[in-house]
Amino acid sequence: MDFRSDTVTKPSKKMKKFMFKAPLGDDVYKEDPSVNKLEKTMKKMAKKEAALFVSSGTLSNLLALLSHCKRGDEYICGQDAHIYKYEAGGGAVVGSIQPQPIEFEENATLDINKIKEKIKPDDAHFAKTKLLCLENTHHGQSLSLDYIKEVSAFAKENKLLLHLDGARIFNALIEEDLQLDEICEHFDSISICLSKGLGTPAGSILLGSKKFIKKAIKYRKMLGGGMRQAGILAAAGIYALKYNMQGLEKDHLKASLLSKELNKLKDIEVLSHHTNMIFIKVKNEDLLKKYLKENDILVGGSYNKLRLVCHRDISQEDIDKTIEVFKAF
Ligand SMILES: *Cc1c(COP(=O)(O)O)cnc(C)c1O
Repeated sequence: MDFRSDTVTKPSKKMKKFMFKAPLGDDVYKEDPSVNKLEKTMKKMAKKEAALFVSSGTLSNLLALLSHCKRGDEYICGQDAHIYKYEAGGGAVVGSIQPQPIEFEENATLDINKIKEKIKPDDAHFAKTKLLCLENTHHGQSLSLDYIKEVSAFAKENKLLLHLDGARIFNALIEEDLQLDEICEHFDSISICLSKGLGTPAGSILLGSKKFIKKAIKYRKMLGGGMRQAGILAAAGIYALKYNMQGLEKDHLKASLLSKELNKLKDIEVLSHHTNMIFIKVKNEDLLKKYLKENDILVGGSYNKLRLVCHRDISQEDIDKTIEVFKAF
């Protein structure tokens, strides 16, 4: 029972069968029917001009940074945003783009006044603030449409481009009861992971204007991400969009139940629970981890903040069993 992340989900037998049968071609020549189909499906769902299939969310975010910003530009993002903290500093290393992180608010938003303070004046001292990046969901927390609209209007007023790291955007759609295009219309670009709760072995989608995606294709090539018969992977995405979407709602229900039961335990503090993610704090953390491991349960997170992520490879019985193990501890 692996609660470390929803990235540990493995392709199901049916998904593998579907991948095996996928029609293939050379995607660098734009001739892979399965990649083309996935990109077309996603751009329709998002009502964006263009979509690009890439190997990972990290590459997708980096392509967005490189395509929006020039050397010496700056992007504003959350202090522990994935695009800044967990992607090996790619924007700075590869693009010479300066990050300007600010603390997230409790509700996973970036405060508009705090953003405003960080936008640099047009002056020889400063990098040019070009891009604002949001994350949805962040630590499982989704952004409201009202906030997204407010930020989008603010970005336009201040001539900032707006990127969304929507690695888990499908979880956000369930939580906020929205359609993909209702969120995407407010962003210049959106990155979406297919390899988290949707259970594909690899792959992300980058969305935006035709002009933006044209640049991203060139950077993808430059970074070694031009894959040939990538349709074998894209097929997993096509399958997931059709059959695995419903599972996400179940993941949220599993997380609700687990969170509720953990909250009843004296020595465990549930710090937060949103969509498919639970963060807890516990005395005797090392002992707990050891005990869980002995009982075939893996949890993620770091000191004083353990993370449990519910996903399609954790069954209802697994949840019940996990609750019993926690109680026994
Ligand atoms: C997982 C994740 C990514 C990166 O995706 P990879 O496919 O693992 O590179 C980006 N942003 C967020 C918020 C994520 O959770």
